[in-house]
Amino acid sequence: MALITSQQYAESLRKRKSLRIFMNGKKVEDVFDNPNIRTVIEANKASYSWALDPGYQEMMTAISPLTNDRVNRYVYVCRSREDLVAKALAGTFTAEKLGTCIYRCPGLDAFHSLASTTWEMDRNLGTEYNKRLIKYLKWVQEDDLAVAGALTEPRGDRKKRALDWPDPFLSLKVVEKKSDGIVVRGAKINISGAYAAHEIVVLPQSAKRKDEGDYALSFAVPTDTGGITYICQYSPYSAEREMADDIYELGNPIFGQRETSMVVFDNVFVPWERVFHCGETDYSIKLVERFAKTHRMTCGGTCKVGFMNLIIGACKLLQEYKGLEKAQHINDEMMEMVVLRETGRACGLASANLGQEEPEGSGVFLPDELMGNVSKLNICNAFWRVMALAGDIGGGLIATLPSLKELKNPETRKYVEEFLGFGSDAPTEDIMKVTKLLQNWTAGQHGVATWHGAGPVMAQKIMIQRVVDYEHEKNLVKEALGILEGKEIPK
Ligand SMILES: Cc1cc2nc3c(=O)[nH]c(=O)nc-3n(C[C@H](O)[C@H](O)[C@H](O)COP(=O)(O)OP(=O)(O)OC[C@H]3O[C@@H](n4cnc5c(N)ncnc54)[C@H](O)[C@@H]3O)c2cc1C
Repeated sequence: MALITSQQYAESLRKRKSLRIFMNGKKVEDVFDNPNIRTVIEANKASYSWALDPGYQEMMTAISPLTNDRVNRYVYVCRSREDLVAKALAGTFTAEKLGTCIYRCPGLDAFHSLASTTWEMDRNLGTEYNKRLIKYLKWVQEDDLAVAGALTEPRGDRKKRALDWPDPFLSLKVVEKKSDGIVVRGAKINISGAYAAHEIVVLPQSAKRKDEGDYALSFAVPTDTGGITYICQYSPYSAEREMADDIYELGNPIFGQRETSMVVFDNVFVPWERVFHCGETDYSIKLVERFAKTHRMTCGGTCKVGFMNLIIGACKLLQEYKGLEKAQHINDEMMEMVVLRETGRACGLASANLGQEEPEGSGVFLPDELMGNVSKLNICNAFWRVMALAGDIGGGLIATLPSLKELKNPETRKYVEEFLGFGSDAPTEDIMKVTKLLQNWTAGQHGVATWHGAGPVMAQKIMIQRVVDYEHEKNLVKEALGILEGKEIPK
């Protein structure tokens, strides 16, 4: 069976050539020794364990027609609406269990976009990209590889096109085409968990014009390929984890923040068999948009639902610890959070249930464009609102809570036990841990990360404007008023 254990995944990372990873100005010599990188490895390990756990296997795996075998859901491209729904449910499950990214998700969504678009390129242009991709994907499934997805680029002056930037490498670019492959230079930024994956799949970030062929690029490389450097995110949360002697101080003890890095490609060689798009500028936008709607269903309608479950659970516990069960405004706030969560879930499931084979005949199912984008747009605002409501329910201690270490300090323990326990039957330590969890969600990076991950709101609004032409709505009014001039109402 093409499913490896979490230990085998960890061992396979140890077998890689040394990666050039930098965090906080220092080289990371061993990914297992770095407490922030370790959280990414732990999250990925969970994805391998669930796939082999009889309790979760149905949700976390699927039977692949490429291998005729059970493969991890995070390397399986949807072939029906049922598959899309299963993908959505898995997204919520992993998010509520991890409280952070399932780092194999952008790679999976890149595979959806590539499977659809390379099929179309082969059909229309006579290329061999789909054949290459299918061979590659089969290998990824057989070896159960973790794959990161990389689109976002540094970019220059946004008023200008890439060809007008003084530095041509602010978007990833082909610098040489050889008989056996291409050489690329540039960088991808904000890339989730790349250093703990086996492979990185690269897509273009944006539409390309005819003269921008060197930027119309998609390929896959092993994460330990020569010329790649990872420059990791670093924040007060990273520093806190580096220094923590009790990880329960951190709110999400095992799985941590959503960890990303800038991935620099400094003249990296990519063999042709790993290149899936090179110069066919008309198809770059298809790769971007098909990735976007798939990823927006995930980021909007599935994983943030799981995150909200954690926030809602913590708020309910604190409400009970404080004896506020009958406070009407808090019950109203709880209800508002539930409604926001359910709106997110509904949009995610709707985008899956309305998904379609795209293009027809390809066998690849993608979520509904409108609902995928609406999922993400809604959640951008809903998540800030849920953070605000949680802040109200949790109280000032979310910001001001002392360290859990005071519970072990003989000089302060009895005061902390007495004065931070709300006089409840619950152990003060539990109350403090729940408050720390809410601190992680409300005082941290999650608002901005939720807003920008899978694109900020303007990106969704642009897509929604493209999809909605208002003809159906205008004609309804005309029909009602007898001014339709005998035409059918378009659906
Ligand atoms: C936690 C996290 C994880 C992520 N993981 C991944 C990943 O795994 N892979 C990946 O590829 N990306 C990833 N991203 C990147 C994410 O998709 C981008 O952050 C997002 O698309 C926004 O791009 P940006 O950060 O460059 O912001 P910007 O593009 O700089 O946006 C800032 C503002 O400028 C506006 N703006 C930008 N360009 C224009 C323009 N031309 N005209 C008018 N307004 C403009 C935007 O609408 C926004 O209001 C991740 C991001 C986060 C926060």
